[in-house]
Amino acid sequence: MTGLPSHLELVQGVVLPKPVGADPVLDFVNTRSDWTGRDPARTEWLTSYEAFLIWNSYVGLLPAATVFRLIEQASGKPTEAARRLHAALEFRTDLYDVLTGQATGGSFEGAARVIEKASGRRQLVPTDDGAVWELPEDLVKPLDNIALLAGELLTGPSLAHVRRCPGESCGWLFLDPRGRRRWCSMATCGNRAKVRAHAARAR
Ligand SMILES: [Zn+2]
Repeated sequence: MTGLPSHLELVQGVVLPKPVGADPVLDFVNTRSDWTGRDPARTEWLTSYEAFLIWNSYVGLLPAATVFRLIEQASGKPTEAARRLHAALEFRTDLYDVLTGQATGGSFEGAARVIEKASGRRQLVPTDDGAVWELPEDLVKPLDNIALLAGELLTGPSLAHVRRCPGESCGWLFLDPRGRRRWCSMATCGNRAKVRAHAARAR
């Protein structure tokens, strides 16, 4: 027992929120608490570039072996690693605004530029029966990888199913293709709402 709340998990020494978005791009957005304001988050889970890498492995976006090698690369280039984390967090904010329809010109441009740059960095690598797109294994790869998926989400059919949790101080995003989901998680926001409703009835 780690004594952590049920919506969090300890992964390789880093506390991370369990994925609830049903899409890794939305879970990326959900790596900070409280999107109702733009102040620094009450809880930020991507507290270092290494934590960002471990999160990528945790949600299945990058293989563990890649993450291992990138952690080694990052330890030799701490300044660049810090810059890459900063870029990822900036992209996360712009992307949130775009996904929730609150994008100003600036946030759309910001998100679009990152996605376009990521597209340009793909390399066509031959396989036995054709070829695949791959990104070079450097410190930019984690953000580029998410950016490419974000580009697919923004231009694909799933975009219509993105919902925002109405929980107090939440604003997390998730996919709701069947239109039946209200909360990011019953264990957190759903439960809090239930408790509040109960207290209101008891008054
Ligand atoms: Zn919520």
